[in-house]
Amino acid sequence: MKAMILEQPGSALKAVELPDPEPGPGQVQVAISACGVCRTDLHVVDGDLTEPKLPIIPGHEIVGTVSALGDGVDGFNLGDRIGIPWLGHTCGHCSYCQSGAENLCDEPGFTGYQIDGGYADMTVADASYCFPLPPQGSDAELAPLLCAGLIGYRSLVMAGNESRRLGIYGFGAAAHIVAQVAAYQGRELYAFTSPGDVAAQRFALQMGAAWAGDSDQPAPIELDAAIIFAPVGPLVPAALRAVRKGGIVVCGGIHMSDIPSFPYNILWGERVVRSVANLTRQDAIDFLALAPKVPIKTEVVEYPLDEANAALRALRSGELTGAAVLIP
Ligand SMILES: [Zn+2]
Ligand SMILES: [Zn+2]
Repeated sequence: MKAMILEQPGSALKAVELPDPEPGPGQVQVAISACGVCRTDLHVVDGDLTEPKLPIIPGHEIVGTVSALGDGVDGFNLGDRIGIPWLGHTCGHCSYCQSGAENLCDEPGFTGYQIDGGYADMTVADASYCFPLPPQGSDAELAPLLCAGLIGYRSLVMAGNESRRLGIYGFGAAAHIVAQVAAYQGRELYAFTSPGDVAAQRFALQMGAAWAGDSDQPAPIELDAAIIFAPVGPLVPAALRAVRKGGIVVCGGIHMSDIPSFPYNILWGERVVRSVANLTRQDAIDFLALAPKVPIKTEVVEYPLDEANAALRALRSGELTGAAVLIP
């Protein structure tokens, strides 16, 4: 198979030929047709996340078709179109797994981080962490749902069902999906981007935002909740200043620069700051059932697999509108 591998954090991915992976018990072999490029991949490649298996094949927004079945696999057939997300393994017995919070498992395995991922034309995955995909949409269009969509959806749930006026800081792949779900749910969306990023602001308005503006400016209206997708710590006090008493600020990223100190009075009033970590399989089931009802339409920029480094560079520089997707 063809793959792009990371040998050392801080270096470019390398194109390699590897033996085809054989599915073990409980695993499916998948012929990959698309893999989304997530900001988390950038954090793995840049070394912000410090526990990768090395070398590693990044990528955890995988869409493909089942090409072989390992022993004991139930529920999938050859040729099925399936998705493989970030959560690739949990222990099943820790207190988190036992209490419905498998996203916080003590001994997890994450796709594209500890388990080889989707920057390749083939992979194997534990079938119990894979999901059938809805028939609507091309493979490339569905790929961003597998992480940007799932984490975005979990962030939206954490922001509270009652939160009508919702702020979003950072308008990339996750935000453009959340914006569509929020509009479907009848919420008002206020999009904050890097100061002067007119293209992102225009994109946010196209995706249904009621307002879009610079993140260094005050919100035009008091917000009920805010979700921060940009990995920028100073946005936490900015969002706290924008939400009402009892408002919730959700940090949706896996990595963020340091949060500067801030006066207690912007947290006072029972405001809440929380993070969102990973996903549960139930999140995936709920979100993938909701996606065709909205219906979610993703904006993708396709790159050939061997141009993965260029896709990562485009994401890092903020020049992408929507989501990059690698096509093997
Ligand atoms: Zn566990
Ligand atoms: Zn991701």
